[in-house]
Amino acid sequence: MLAKIFLFCTLLILFSSCSSKLLTWNELNIIPRTVWNANPPREYKIHTIERITIHHEGTFFHQDSSALQHIKNIQTWGMGKDRNWIDVPYHFLIDGKGNIIEGRNPLTVGETNTSYDPTGHVLISVIGEYHKRQMPRDEQINSIIQLAANLCIRYNLNPDSIKGHRDYCKPGETSCPGDNLYKYLQDRTIQEKVKTILKNNY
Ligand SMILES: [Zn+2]
Repeated sequence: MLAKIFLFCTLLILFSSCSSKLLTWNELNIIPRTVWNANPPREYKIHTIERITIHHEGTFFHQDSSALQHIKNIQTWGMGKDRNWIDVPYHFLIDGKGNIIEGRNPLTVGETNTSYDPTGHVLISVIGEYHKRQMPRDEQINSIIQLAANLCIRYNLNPDSIKGHRDYCKPGETSCPGDNLYKYLQDRTIQEKVKTILKNNY
């Protein structure tokens, strides 16, 4: 019996230390813009990054599908006459399998359809609709955590600066990043996990 308890505890410690391991920037395996056939950006405004803001992309997208063409379509639409943005609106995108995809240069100010000023925000958008239609997968939450931890190191950010798009808007203006994703920010799962990873590894 004691041996079983010991084995259980060892496995538990092993599991929790694995999941709290900080991936390096290279280990994030960020899919570069060339893979989604990005157009070059137009001339842009630079900013100093002060905080991390989580979005969902807001339209249903099957989590097992490749999001690369979808991201290219977002860029084409965003740079077109409807919006006239300089590039795809987000700095990083996360697909249904948790892959991280390179968006616009993090040092450029992102874009929004709502009233907040995204200057100083690094924008991470999860592809899909997480308000009513989809639930985030563990792989997606883990990718947000690992990417955010790396961004905290790279840009000297406080994990408490990780918030959701709706936190910067007037009440009712947007549901982004969707209740099903926002709950991980509201209950501070994401912020506390980033803090733990940084404390244990850095
Ligand atoms: Zn948003």
